[in-house]
Amino acid sequence: MNGTSVDRLRARTVVRRVSEAFRNREGLLTNVDDLVENQLPSGVGKRSREHALFLFYVVPNDHGVKSSRLYTRAKALFCARPLLFEPLEILGEFNGPDDDRLVEATGVALGTRYPKETAKGWYRNTVRLVDEYDADPRRLFTSSSDATVLLRHIQGFRGYGPKTGGMLLRALVGLGFAAVNRLGQVALPVDIHDSRISFFTGILTCSDGDAPEDGDYYRFVPVVQQVLLEACNTLRISWLDVDRALWLIGSKGCAVRDCGRCPIADLCRATSGFGGAGIQEQLSL
Ligand code: SF4
Repeated sequence: MNGTSVDRLRARTVVRRVSEAFRNREGLLTNVDDLVENQLPSGVGKRSREHALFLFYVVPNDHGVKSSRLYTRAKALFCARPLLFEPLEILGEFNGPDDDRLVEATGVALGTRYPKETAKGWYRNTVRLVDEYDADPRRLFTSSSDATVLLRHIQGFRGYGPKTGGMLLRALVGLGFAAVNRLGQVALPVDIHDSRISFFTGILTCSDGDAPEDGDYYRFVPVVQQVLLEACNTLRISWLDVDRALWLIGSKGCAVRDCGRCPIADLCRATSGFGGAGIQEQLSL
């Protein structure tokens, strides 16, 4: 990318460090309850059809909102209205993707950024799940043992982009819903947290400063995906734990400035003062 330099050695240092820290459950990574892998509504069995349905409907809405809040609301919704997660019941109950009652029951209840979009996805994904996978997401989750193909199948559903699709894939593998090969060919589900951390740790540097002047970290997501994947593959480290670690550091560390417990604090410009006030201000976003 023009005006941006990449430090691949630094990327490998960060990847190795967060991978080890996640394995040893250090600092911010001690408690992993917030991960999507650990979201199970009360009374639902792990790897059950209900568990699969819960993930299938909730994960595409995990963007533009605080994940922990979404998960808490989603688990409560599942317990209060389990039929909202039953494909045939949804098609019988609601008149279509624009039904106001569905908007209220899903997007509004979950507090998503775009409730109407949530309802549209909820309904249209249901239709597709019924038509192509016999109303059982586990059939989707086992539709290919090739990670790249499985991700493509997942991304065929509404709301599943590079981030949410990769996040679901990560959860499916971690939970044992899916066994796949060629994971090293799939890009990490990088979000703005990872992009910021890449600048904070010096993996990326802009020619006009340590961080993008306009604060737009989103546009660096593709390059961060590529650099982190390359580092993982070079080190022969699965990106699954690296992604989990970066997600936890971003959401539990950077977002609330809990840098004292961060396993990469000594690599981070935000704590050393290098980069100055600009980085500190961006941390509060
Ligand atoms: S800003 Fe703080 S929590 Fe985020 S990577 Fe740097 S040291 Fe870690």
